[in-house]
Amino acid sequence: MLNDVLLNAAILIACLSLGNQILINHDIAPTSPLRLKLFISIMLGVLGIFLMINSIQIMPKIILDFRSTPILISAIYCGFMPSILTALIIGVFRLLYLGISFTSILGLITALVVGISCGLISELKISNREKWIYMSICILLIPTIGFAILLNNQHLLGGLLIVYWLGTFLTLSLVYFYLQFLHFSKQNYKKYKKDSTKDHLTGLNNVRTFDTELNKVTKRLTNNSLVALLLIDIDFFKKVNDEYGHQNGDKVLEDLSKILLSSSKSSDIVSRNGGEEFSIIMTDCPRENVLKVAERIRTVVEKQGFSLIDNRIINITVSIGVSIYPDNHIDKLVEIADAALYKAKRTGRNKVIVET
Ligand code: GH3
Ligand code: MG
Ligand code: MG
Repeated sequence: MLNDVLLNAAILIACLSLGNQILINHDIAPTSPLRLKLFISIMLGVLGIFLMINSIQIMPKIILDFRSTPILISAIYCGFMPSILTALIIGVFRLLYLGISFTSILGLITALVVGISCGLISELKISNREKWIYMSICILLIPTIGFAILLNNQHLLGGLLIVYWLGTFLTLSLVYFYLQFLHFSKQNYKKYKKDSTKDHLTGLNNVRTFDTELNKVTKRLTNNSLVALLLIDIDFFKKVNDEYGHQNGDKVLEDLSKILLSSSKSSDIVSRNGGEEFSIIMTDCPRENVLKVAERIRTVVEKQGFSLIDNRIINITVSIGVSIYPDNHIDKLVEIADAALYKAKRTGRNKVIVET
């Protein structure tokens, strides 16, 4: 019997790991999109079926399995309706698998009552930990009533309940801690993924993402494509650091990134390419507007008062180098925008230069 319990635990852990891997990029909660919740609740129903097929024979006609655990998971992560759907899948399969009998109908009813109870608990405004505790109590108690209806022999019932309660308690504890671990791993994965693509200070794309995005744009080019690259560099930024300190310098960089984001469209790719140099790739801007956008950014920055940590206000300016495809070869876009930026610096700063 111990082997069977271990097999069930292994099925649960393997399926939860696989599910976590498949859904690694999705946040799963009762507020998630309906399609995602439906998918998860159906998959959990299938997991319940697996557990039922690999049930543990305790005594003739009496099997023990952990099919309620997927219902609990469905309720915790997806809410009321998904919990009932998972329960329904498990209960109906029980009916089809064993044929219509008093035992299988009782199995269906038990699964549904567990599904409804867990679903109702999932709606309560309490922590997930408390929900687990209350749902676990339901999973321990509701099937107990079913066992009591099925078994007249008090002695056998007592033995069965001890095995069921102990097995279920251990399984639920194992699953609880394993799901906590998966949650922790997922958060770390998301954090490292974000750190590898975003600039930690401003939240803009980092230079690696800039390269990736420019490559994507290059691959998608058509005869009608127009790509504009703006390289934006703060003028005399070293002075800001020297006069007001690095922390204030960082704040200026953060505030400038907000200006760049609000000055661009959602289709523009805004990045911090390093230090005090930023870039915007525009793929959706008519040629005659490119210069206007660059000029607007320059004037907005010039007029903006940048507040420091102690609320003092300073002013900064930016120089902007622009290059455009198809005027320039796409592979030379960065080099040419850089040359334009250099020219803007050399010829007085606080200006936009378009290199064609
Ligand atoms: P120019 O007008 O020629 O661009 O002059 P500049 O002073 O802006 O350029 P320079 O390359 O001489 O100095 C860039 C400065 O940017 C030096 C460095 O301290 C600062 N810097 C780079 N990265 C950061 C950062 O993450 N935070 C802060 N606070 N400063 C940074
Ligand atoms: Mg600079
Ligand atoms: Mg620079």
